Amino acid sequence: AAEEGFDLEDVEGAIEAAGHGPLPVLAVVGRPNVGKSTLVNRIIGRREAVVEDKPGVTRDRVTYEAEWAGRRFKVVDTGGWEQDVLGIDASVAAQAEYAIEAADAVVFVVDAKVGATDTDEAVVRLLRKAGKPVVLCANKVDGPSGEADAAYLWSLGLGEPYPVSALHGRGTGDMLDQVLEVLPQAPAQTFGTAVGGPRRVALIGRPNVGKSSLLNKVAGEERVVVNELAGTTRDPVDEMIELGGKTWKFVDTAGIRKRVHLQQGADYYASLRTAAAVEKAEVAVVLIDAADSISVQDQRIVTMAVEAGRALVLAYNKWDTLDEERRYYLEREIETELGQVVWAPRVNVSARTGRHMEKLVPAIETALEGWETRVPTGRLNAFLGELVAAHPHPVRGGKQPRILFGTQAGTRPPRFVLFASGFIEAGYRRFIERRLREEFGFEGTPIHISVRVRE
Ligand code: GDP
Ligand code: GDP
Repeated sequence: AAEEGFDLEDVEGAIEAAGHGPLPVLAVVGRPNVGKSTLVNRIIGRREAVVEDKPGVTRDRVTYEAEWAGRRFKVVDTGGWEQDVLGIDASVAAQAEYAIEAADAVVFVVDAKVGATDTDEAVVRLLRKAGKPVVLCANKVDGPSGEADAAYLWSLGLGEPYPVSALHGRGTGDMLDQVLEVLPQAPAQTFGTAVGGPRRVALIGRPNVGKSSLLNKVAGEERVVVNELAGTTRDPVDEMIELGGKTWKFVDTAGIRKRVHLQQGADYYASLRTAAAVEKAEVAVVLIDAADSISVQDQRIVTMAVEAGRALVLAYNKWDTLDEERRYYLEREIETELGQVVWAPRVNVSARTGRHMEKLVPAIETALEGWETRVPTGRLNAFLGELVAAHPHPVRGGKQPRILFGTQAGTRPPRFVLFASGFIEAGYRRFIERRLREEFGFEGTPIHISVRVRE
């Protein structure tokens, strides 16, 4: 490395940085209007105001990346979801429940000016039950005079209330320092004790694509469709299912079966649930209704899984209903709408007739295999050397940036660091990714490539 102009410390640092796996997840929960969205904006350093006045605004994105004191983590924003038909207590509880389930630590936001309400107490009970680390944020303490209000929140029994003004930034630094104290370095659900246990599968997709039908089919029993009403939120359930001679953990299947039809915020609720399931899973099976046009919502769900760095399988359902014409158009739609994930194994299934159910497990296994593939450094550099010699980077400004060497810094999903003599253009990076896939497989997995340029 040294003779190529990088010093060893740079190289080690870059590999270390790229090698970090999935980031730990911080959930921000609390009643509507306590300032959750404002706080999330502050944490992620978002300048533009995304705090909406309208209740029940639907937002697709619920997970953001943030960094504090050099540590990166994800933040789940539950602020976009408002009171719905379930009534305020149940809705806040359900929202908090999903967010807490997906999180490694929680910031519980209370409006210090209002003090602790019954709903706040209900969330405290959920937090106790979940046993995740909690930081209590006493928000809307805009000046020193509000600190007394914050002190009252000791009564919640969650330890020290951190007086914060999410709006002005006051106190957020101290609170975030405390967050880093309690937030694990890596998400427990991915790299903790669960490794070696049953593989975790998230079955996701927009409403009515056939998720619960498929789950019933693979689990080999007709399940009762649950119709739950106010106040009966239950624990999200991870279900063990025997498939292809192995046990798989289908995460958050209660969410799939739950038939609560929400009037407001239903889409938001669905995306929060999807995000939670994806965070907990190793592999996402995205179910798509092949009879219907591929929608933006389908694309967003796929993107959610890819951005979370999970292995991916695409299952096209309701195949029993397709005629020749629809099959033709489906293929065109897949090319144009889902071209960015051509690497994902694909199965054409029917939850109704059971068509190709036996292909699901091999597809999941292929994806997990790609997700865990490690290319030895020697082999990688032999490959890169040949590739760069045969297809050099275009000359720019009289110079030719060259990839000097590379290494795979991590797996689940595969992450590469390439060291280069100059700026490597996006097109060339994509070319490298394509060739890496051709050479080493990586079927069913996103791959990350970061490039370090010699100073
Ligand atoms: P959410 O529903 O919990 O996400 O709450 P929002 O972030 O949408 O905030 C609700 C309202 O409280 C908005 O009008 C915010 O401007 C206001 N707010 C949020 N944080 C603070 C704060 O620290 N101080 C004051 N005075 N107002 C705040
Ligand atoms: P979910 O909302 O994704 O859980 O979807 P459901 O499992 O509730 O299915 C929605 C509708 O699609 C129901 O009427 C199912 O009977 C129907 N459905 C599900 N899978 C298939 C399939 O493979 N073929 C056909 N023809 N209908 C299906």
